[in-house]
Amino acid sequence: VREEIDLKSFIRHIPDFPKPGILFYDISTLMRNPDAWQMAMGRLARQIAPLRPDVLAAVESRGFLTAAPLADRLGCGMLMLRKRGKLPGRTVSHTYDLEYGSDTLEIQEDAVLPGQRVVIMDDLLATGGTLAASATLLRKAGANVVGASVLMELTGLGGRARMDGVPVTTLMSYE
Ligand code: 5GP
Repeated sequence: VREEIDLKSFIRHIPDFPKPGILFYDISTLMRNPDAWQMAMGRLARQIAPLRPDVLAAVESRGFLTAAPLADRLGCGMLMLRKRGKLPGRTVSHTYDLEYGSDTLEIQEDAVLPGQRVVIMDDLLATGGTLAASATLLRKAGANVVGASVLMELTGLGGRARMDGVPVTTLMSYE
């Protein structure tokens, strides 16, 4: 019966956040339900395990929420992809364009060993800008990016096509 939990019914849709006209998909309501959250983590584990990651790369900040329990379940390491200036020590950064302006992601220079199999984790795939920038940065640092994993995908925005053939898995798809 637990297999039949409809995860979408736990996602709250909040209009006009963070800006007027944007519909925000809120995972807080999924996280606060223990059965639904556990089910979501189990399904993520089954999607990611076949990729045999050495390291899960967590995108700040909601990627941290799924990567930490998954690294524990799968017995692999994890690393943080953070906004500019948050990480101590030597870092590698990548600046990418947003709809308005730009953003910078950073990882620690020694976050991956050359050729390590890395799966990127975030909560939601929209235009793909965030995941594509994450993949570029990880490759700069020597990683072998073998996949990306999200809880939710907005399929109409072409995000998947920006991943250059890197397989993307999702638990929930929205038109
Ligand atoms: P993209 O770069 O693919 O256009 O946007 C994805 C990024 O924006 C992710 O890091 C995600 O956390 C955030 N994001 C954009 N829209 C939403 C949303 O409706 N819900 C959530 N939870 N995150 C969003």
